[in-house]
Amino acid sequence: MVKPMLRSHSMARKMRTTPGHQSSIIYRRRKPSRAKCALCGAVLGGVPAKRPAKLRRIPKTGKRPDRAYGGRVCHKCLSNSIIEISKEL
Ligand SMILES: [Zn+2]
Repeated sequence: MVKPMLRSHSMARKMRTTPGHQSSIIYRRRKPSRAKCALCGAVLGGVPAKRPAKLRRIPKTGKRPDRAYGGRVCHKCLSNSIIEISKEL
């Protein structure tokens, strides 16, 4: 049996052939997922996909666009919603 830390699915698994031609499972860290728009699901630009330890070293303006709903909603959805609100007024 593998180490207890490898039994959870927090680590990604891959089958690899060893130099001795035996197949074995290797365990790697999963890639961090990219931030997505809350309305349409598009991948947000200007938002880094980094681990929390690395995000701590980045200034706040480097983590998301410096505008209303930056880092939550993409620019297209924000533009559309502003237009829709102005039509209602
Ligand atoms: Zn969107």
